Amino acid sequence: MDSREALLRESFVPVAPVSRVMAAPQIEHRRLANSGLMCDLSTGARMSQACAVWNVKTNVCTIMTEPNAPDEVLGHEVRHCFEGHFH
Ligand SMILES: [Zn+2]
Repeated sequence: MDSREALLRESFVPVAPVSRVMAAPQIEHRRLANSGLMCDLSTGARMSQACAVWNVKTNVCTIMTEPNAPDEVLGHEVRHCFEGHFH
């Protein structure tokens, strides 16, 4: 791990399963050229680069990122799948 990775590394304590949006979601990752637009449309956010969208009915958390998104971005969105809006 170089210093850049150290800065990007996110540390957190996972919330208890009962406090999560979904206790044990299935995770799906979609790499999309237009992930920013798709995320803005799905979440109502603006200028997104990546996002996690929960479907409580199907118990699937869909992560959308740009095709070449780094692992740190994917990891961050996985955290959203389990912890909802933590920031
Ligand atoms: Zn986030």
